[in-house]
Amino acid sequence: MKRVLPLLLALLLLAGCTKKIETQYYMMDTVMTFTLYGENAKEAERALSDRVAALEKVFSPTDAESELVTVNRAAGTSVQVSEDFASLLDACLAANTETEGAFDPTLGAVIDLWNKETVPSAEELSQCKVGCDAVRLEGTSLQTETGIELNFGAAAKGYASDCAKEILEENGIEHALLSLGGNVYAHGGKPNGEPWMVGVRDPNGDASEWLGVVQIKDGFLIASGDYERYFEQNGFRYHHILDPLIRTPAMSDLRECVIIGENGTRGDILSTALFVMGYDRAVEYWREHRDFEMILVREDNAVLVTEGISSAFTLTGEEYTLEVIE
Ligand code: AMP
Ligand code: MG
Repeated sequence: MKRVLPLLLALLLLAGCTKKIETQYYMMDTVMTFTLYGENAKEAERALSDRVAALEKVFSPTDAESELVTVNRAAGTSVQVSEDFASLLDACLAANTETEGAFDPTLGAVIDLWNKETVPSAEELSQCKVGCDAVRLEGTSLQTETGIELNFGAAAKGYASDCAKEILEENGIEHALLSLGGNVYAHGGKPNGEPWMVGVRDPNGDASEWLGVVQIKDGFLIASGDYERYFEQNGFRYHHILDPLIRTPAMSDLRECVIIGENGTRGDILSTALFVMGYDRAVEYWREHRDFEMILVREDNAVLVTEGISSAFTLTGEEYTLEVIE
């Protein structure tokens, strides 16, 4: 296991008899902050950070030794994958169908082209092999067609947050707040019984600016937006969330999509997929399912919040208007 750049080391405090530990890492290409309270806080934190580091070894698209890169190199043959790999791929394949293609784990080759930070030609884009029908997963046996490149960038942090939740429960941690980049998991509220306050990023501001705050005791809050990663060419902004149908950055009328729910993998998948769908289809999707809550930030600066979360959300950004989705 290679732990990547531990930015700030463990801070162990005794608050009454509750031990608190707070750590920060750079893992899975993002800054992660873990705050845990409980007798077992130190052990739980270690298990948690070890688990996330191990998952990075599975899902990293850039580490030449990762399981993902190894599997992609073997495209065209049949391979055995780990339980974690199979479990996340299975969820992603199901999501591809469920989102009518808005979410696609086979976009790897297209993502690589856009990651060069220059606009690829239509020919380069059309040459990429994409499509979940070229992937067959049975248990942990995987068969992909030649040229298929898997990428879990839109779901792996959510999967890691589900694994983190399990570790907190196994270790009897009563209160914790974990931030895996744009993926937050709130566990048991604050030690004083109040909910955790989780900021919602202002897409018009810098990384430290919020447009609002959500009070949450237990659950996942996962955000995707066009501000996270992008490059500019000829005065146009090319962000990192792609519409699989046209293989270019999604021309969404949304700037940001936040999913609040009880499952990290699903939240991560949906935050990306509903961003791609755009406002109308995202609302339609929510009305059909209603097993999660969402906060959408539209390009006209309307903040649209589903009814189940509206009383827990406070809008602070002055240039925004608030509406409730029913
Ligand atoms: P997220 O920040 O969770 O929205 O994930 C965005 C990342 O997922 C991008 O940087 C790409 O690596 C990948 N990605 C982009 N568009 C899609 C898509 N439509 N389906 C699946 N993965 C995507
Ligand atoms: Mg996502």
